[in-house]
Amino acid sequence: MQIGQYKIDIFETGDFALDGGAMFGVVPKPLWSKSYHAGDELNRIAMTARCLLIRSAERNILVDTGCGDKMHPKMRSIYDLDNSIKSIDLSLVNYGIAADDITDVILTHLHFDHAGGATVMRNGETVPTFPNAKYYVQKKHFEWANAPSEKDRASFMPENWMPIVNAGMMEFTDGPGEILNGINAVPLNGHTPAMQMITVSDEQTTLAFPADLLPTAAHIPLPYIMGYDNYPLTTLEEKKIFLPQMAEEGWLIVFEHDRFTIAGKVVAGEKGFSCGEKTII
Ligand SMILES: [Zn+2]
Repeated sequence: MQIGQYKIDIFETGDFALDGGAMFGVVPKPLWSKSYHAGDELNRIAMTARCLLIRSAERNILVDTGCGDKMHPKMRSIYDLDNSIKSIDLSLVNYGIAADDITDVILTHLHFDHAGGATVMRNGETVPTFPNAKYYVQKKHFEWANAPSEKDRASFMPENWMPIVNAGMMEFTDGPGEILNGINAVPLNGHTPAMQMITVSDEQTTLAFPADLLPTAAHIPLPYIMGYDNYPLTTLEEKKIFLPQMAEEGWLIVFEHDRFTIAGKVVAGEKGFSCGEKTII
């Protein structure tokens, strides 16, 4: 799709799986399994790691990078990570883009399923995957990632960002505002401190990449909040602020982790918010 000067593509970097109960928090399985995959024998539900590729005449911008392929075999098995068919490299090749061509990488936050692809192992050394890019993350989130709570510590692996920082390639965003022309950061604090939702807008259209505020289309109803969230009541407040705006203004929402629904619009109905027009796989 085209928004202003940008051509936007949505692509996947690999599939993985997460515990269904953790993904839906207090919502009982008989309810959440009506709107999402019911899980395998280990109660893991099918997820994907989706990214945005935003191109203009001068720039090739990525938003998030998926899990990457540095993960330890034990972790790969726990998360059922599979990037044999889909990967960031294969997807970029399809668009005729090499890693060297990426000018900017916006990271919503530094959990491994968003920032894992930001660095890569080359000759036994972990280096930035995109050698000519500026990377962007919220300063407050970076501080949290380096001293996380015991609750989300397992999701932070410093090898996903320290090589970028050490190479002087990390730019720190601080609060809401424009990162690049027409591309805005909206910091959110429920999932993890200062995760940045990204919006791309022109006069007619807003596309939003809310990351783990709405990881799947099934997370649109207010009580569907992940057990992974550090501050679930903050997530609830953030959903109460943004879902009405998303519905009223007809934003196209990209669901970063939904294996089945790529994007959709939020609809406000008598029973609350739900996913209207969907783009499915
Ligand atoms: Zn996360």
